[in-house]
Amino acid sequence: MFQNILVAYDGSPHSERALATALELAKCTEGHVTLLNAYDKVPDYLGEPNFQETLDRTVVAARDKMLKVLEQVRQQGLTASMNVLEGPPADAILRVAETEKHDLIVMGSRGLGLFQELLLGSVSERVLRHAKIPVLIVR
Ligand code: ATP
Ligand code: MG
Repeated sequence: MFQNILVAYDGSPHSERALATALELAKCTEGHVTLLNAYDKVPDYLGEPNFQETLDRTVVAARDKMLKVLEQVRQQGLTASMNVLEGPPADAILRVAETEKHDLIVMGSRGLGLFQELLLGSVSERVLRHAKIPVLIVR
């Protein structure tokens, strides 16, 4: 059980804690960890060439950040891979969980959003509502 763990990572301290928990679990289960980051959709109205340039910059920046995290995970002796996809984040998380047959989603209760008084952010709320597999929400 929990051999194929999907970690939703947005770079927030919350998602850092979620990642740390996922890694401890993966060490116990000798599971594979997949990191997933969803970037914001680049608006069509930018027009060319701005649209493509902004998209390229966004994807490269997201991939660079995730490669660093991936390297740290691998240094802990775990097998890991990463996915950088266009948002909305909850849809990307749910889609990947289903197509890649993950058996657990690990995520933070909140993320980078500014309004921290609610228990759950909109991404964790939506994933929890729609996921067909267990979701571990790290507070
Ligand atoms: P909101 O986005 O609704 O303003 P928030 O940012 O505080 O609120 P969420 O976005 O729901 O809270 O974040 C909860 C968790 O969801 C994060 O800790 C992270 O695990 C995951 N998450 C959020 N955004 C992304 C993203 N863009 N890519 C991957 N995972 C994400
Ligand atoms: Mg957020």
